[in-house]
Amino acid sequence: MDVIELTPRLHFLRFPIGHAYLWQDPGGLTLVDSGVPGSGPAIAGAIRGLGHRLGDLRRLVLTHCHGDHVGAAAEVASWGPVEVCAHRADAPFIHGEAEVPPPVLAGWERELLDQVTRRMPAERPAPVRVDRPVEDGDVLGFGGGARVVAAPGHTPGSVGIFLPEHGVLFAGDSVASSSAGDVILGVFNVDPAQAAASFERLAALDVEIACFGHGEPVTENAAARLRAAAERAAG
Ligand SMILES: [Zn+2]
Ligand SMILES: [Zn+2]
Repeated sequence: MDVIELTPRLHFLRFPIGHAYLWQDPGGLTLVDSGVPGSGPAIAGAIRGLGHRLGDLRRLVLTHCHGDHVGAAAEVASWGPVEVCAHRADAPFIHGEAEVPPPVLAGWERELLDQVTRRMPAERPAPVRVDRPVEDGDVLGFGGGARVVAAPGHTPGSVGIFLPEHGVLFAGDSVASSSAGDVILGVFNVDPAQAAASFERLAALDVEIACFGHGEPVTENAAARLRAAAERAAG
């Protein structure tokens, strides 16, 4: 896993599958997503490598319930007074009460899903408590006020997390960037039409830096690229 500084407050934890992001406020740290199962030691290494203690982590925000985002959540939540935040609609999948709903796949996604599944650890994510079930419009106490933007479609409770003061969007898997660097609608959606509508919602935000679960972040003038891609996805 690589640790890449996007801004002095924001580090990109680049995993082979399922990226995570570390946000740093004077009062403590927030982790957005937690990689595949087994990612805990790498995340801990990143936090310590940046000069912090694990006890400095105040919050874990899960953009959605998939195993490449909640994989190490239970371990991370045990590091100290960590508030686990996720959308109400994905909470039952995250704390293990219900099975994660399967995606509705386009033909070309089937082979891709097989490839990704082969690269995922066989281990299932340990269930984790959700301390704070969130909804659209809720504001989380980091990054100068982090707004929850409901973005259902990839999963029922997928969210974007938008930091207006910094122009940063954590898009989860609602948006991705391809290996060629193109911004695209995320894949493996439970409701593809709803996912395309959510993409437009996220693209309407005033985003400078867009962070995705898969693919490289866009670090400049992201709104224009998101809007162009959302129009293509809708068309
Ligand atoms: Zn993912
Ligand atoms: Zn996902």
